[in-house]
Amino acid sequence: MSDDCIFCKIIGKKIPSKILYEDEQVISFLDVYPSAKGHALVLPKNHYQTLLDIPDAELKEVVRIVQKIGAAAMKATKADGFNVVQNNMEAAGQVIHHLHFHVIPRFVNDSLKMHLGSRKAEEEELCEWEKRIKGHL
Ligand SMILES: [Zn+2]
Repeated sequence: MSDDCIFCKIIGKKIPSKILYEDEQVISFLDVYPSAKGHALVLPKNHYQTLLDIPDAELKEVVRIVQKIGAAAMKATKADGFNVVQNNMEAAGQVIHHLHFHVIPRFVNDSLKMHLGSRKAEEEELCEWEKRIKGHL
């Protein structure tokens, strides 16, 4: 629990929100700045700053609920698909420093752009990063 964290305040019911799901470890509520209709957040109730900080067992529970909310949001919005987006640290666009997953319903021809895969990598570059990242696993 962090005193200046808006998500901890929502979890503690000090700030109202549209809660979709809640159990002992996980909570899901609607994003008040939605990128699409039905845009939801799923997060652990314990305050962890990023994906690097959460223990395995809790992460598993959070991801299980991401799947559940994704399925429900798809049905409720009649979406054609959905994105799961999870930002770590400010350089990656993390605004609230309490680990959270965005579940964003998507529609054929919606105007949302995720900007992934804009350039094809060279073979040499792929080999280099394959080697370097594997070295840290
Ligand atoms: Zn928090």
